[in-house]
Amino acid sequence: QNYQSVALIIGVTGIVGNSLAEILPLADTPGGPWKVYGVARRPRPSWNLDHPVEYIQCDISNSEETQSRLALLTDVTHVFYVTWANRPTELENCEINGKMFQNVVDVIIPSCPNLSHICLQTGRKHYHGPFEVFGKVAHDPPHHEGLPRLPVPNFYYTLEDILFEEVKKKEGLTWSVHRPGLIFGFSPYSLMNVVGSLCVYAAICKHEGLPLRFPGAKSAWDGYSDCSDADLIAEHQIWASVDPNAKNEAFDVSNGDVFKWKHLWEVLANEFEVEAEEFDERKRWRLEEMMKDKGQIWDEIVKENGLVESKLEEIGGWWFVDIVLSGECPLDSMNKSKEHGFLGFRNTKKAFISWIYKVKAYKIVP
Ligand code: NDP
Repeated sequence: QNYQSVALIIGVTGIVGNSLAEILPLADTPGGPWKVYGVARRPRPSWNLDHPVEYIQCDISNSEETQSRLALLTDVTHVFYVTWANRPTELENCEINGKMFQNVVDVIIPSCPNLSHICLQTGRKHYHGPFEVFGKVAHDPPHHEGLPRLPVPNFYYTLEDILFEEVKKKEGLTWSVHRPGLIFGFSPYSLMNVVGSLCVYAAICKHEGLPLRFPGAKSAWDGYSDCSDADLIAEHQIWASVDPNAKNEAFDVSNGDVFKWKHLWEVLANEFEVEAEEFDERKRWRLEEMMKDKGQIWDEIVKENGLVESKLEEIGGWWFVDIVLSGECPLDSMNKSKEHGFLGFRNTKKAFISWIYKVKAYKIVP
């Protein structure tokens, strides 16, 4: 087949990587037909096999391995960088994430003469700072792309700075930065998958005959939140890859509506046929604490229901759900994306339900 574009997805089994792997090869995707390479460390999981992608196992934190495995690719036209590593401090995050991204561009820019665009995914922490300074340095929301950087280390800034330096090395090479908020998507291999983690929690409640209790704060329960659908983010990155109006710009990317967790909580309870417990803000508790001794129960649930093999500590990002639900959600704005021509959106409640269906359909949860 004659391809018009060749994608390299770094993090192809992640929450947005898996959506890119599904959408890029479709016949009607802008810029296509696309040939797609996808990189991750672990062997290819069953739920990623349907997508026509050339899968490459490679640890991009290892310079020699990245050099030897990715130098073989000489036809890449577009890079989609949708991965990260999580370390205990932000300074360590800057170091490891900078190294990973640098390793990839060091190989791809010299070896791919037709490389034309790099999409870098960062996130809303650009505006409110890394987890370790949550609530201390944030800009006043709603956030927008015109806000200056915060005066604290942030691996997103490290990644952007590498990007801005690297694109100078090749005439005509363009870039875009994509800043989602909380992502709703599918991947069981994601470090931060709120929908998947909540599905696992609901399945455990069902199995143990417990009501579904909200592990968060009142401000998250009945305040406005928003989120970013993984398929929408993929569409946003593909738009920026092919549309001249989107070149060399950073964009927020979110669904374009708001929701309240108390409403999604009812949806989640219905989908798993469990009772949603009345919210009581005096009973604050943490999912991470509750899940400490549930590993064996999860193993039983997996076995009894013939689910795809998984370990509770891998599939549930409990620390992340606890953070997300611990307070008000800082909103952002899609104005800049719309002004540049991206009019995509998602109905969050419908999207939430369809991600739950997908997690069930792929037998990740019962
Ligand atoms: P995920 O955690 O969902 O996926 C990461 C992917 O990268 C997986 O395919 C993983 O597979 C792969 N990977 C991880 N380490 C390596 C490595 N060393 N070498 C090769 N592949 C690797 O990523 P996200 O989409 O969540 O994260 C991308 C960016 O989006 C981050 O900057 C994050 O902060 C940001 N973001 C995420 C949000 C969310 O809700 N998830 C919200 C807002 C922003 P494997 O482990 O097998 O290697």
